[in-house]
Amino acid sequence: MIISGKELSAQLKSDMAQEVATFPEKYGRVPHLVVILVGDDPGSVSYVTGKAKASEVVGIKNTTIRKPENISEEELLEIIARLNADDTVDGILVQLPLPRHISEEKVIAAIDKSKDVDGFHPLNVAALWQKQECVLPCTPKGIIKMLKRAGVEISGKRAVVIGRSNIVGLPVAKLLLNENATVTIAHSRTKNLPEVTREAEILVVAIGRPKFVTADMVSEGAVVIDVGVNRDPETGKLCGDVDFAAIEPKASVITPVPGGVGPMTICCLMENTIECFLRKQQK
Ligand code: NAP
Repeated sequence: MIISGKELSAQLKSDMAQEVATFPEKYGRVPHLVVILVGDDPGSVSYVTGKAKASEVVGIKNTTIRKPENISEEELLEIIARLNADDTVDGILVQLPLPRHISEEKVIAAIDKSKDVDGFHPLNVAALWQKQECVLPCTPKGIIKMLKRAGVEISGKRAVVIGRSNIVGLPVAKLLLNENATVTIAHSRTKNLPEVTREAEILVVAIGRPKFVTADMVSEGAVVIDVGVNRDPETGKLCGDVDFAAIEPKASVITPVPGGVGPMTICCLMENTIECFLRKQQK
């Protein structure tokens, strides 16, 4: 079974659009997401465009602020401070990566926690690990939604996550743990990785290496979630971390790249923006 993140996200966005359509009457306005894009890296431009398109579908107001590569850290922090203070702004997202002269850590920490729709703010991260109310990071949240929609029972399963980044690997592992899976986190120093991954009933791969996971690393009937976004060195086309053609016949459930986790990430960004908006209305 191939889980289409594209289809699921289209359904979820359509449900959200119906909900958002009721907001002007209930609350006097729709949620407002501000995306800051520094520089003109084609990958970042395409992600930001995708976020603006999704906002349009859902009916959320989207403002993209574009700044040149040489903007100073101080100026960027001033923009964020203004947006934090603006009551008409519900979500703030700074597209990563940032140029080297700007500290991503400082920028992420400068965003008001209640407007941190990416869920990267240290207070949101801490709240996640303490099981308190927080904004869940979009990619991990999207992965759990996909697993549930595919009818995958997570509780009691052996899950292996390859990758331990703050953005994907660690929070995915935490969300799987919250769902009562028994979780192993593998990384670049893991010895005998295929031995570890063959134990997985649920395998989540977030490395960033084209077709790194080969068929011999996956056990028959495993659920395989491919987070990676890479260029295939042979064809130049977009591909995941998993050798999809070789593993699809073995897996019980698998996500494709493109059209898998990626669309769900943007979908969850929309959901997070609505959640931040609603929390503010309820205060
Ligand atoms: P990252 O910060 O570079 O982390 C990569 C992780 O992979 C690290 O923990 C690293 O281990 C591990 N790793 C690298 N080589 C390995 C190896 N040979 N064996 C085992 N583990 C290895 O990357 P990221 O931000 O988590 O992103 C991972 C991938 O997901 C990228 O392709 C990215 O583009 C993609 N992504 C997709 C979405 C989406 O929406 N679809 C969202 C975010 C990211 P160490 O910690 O030991 O270095």
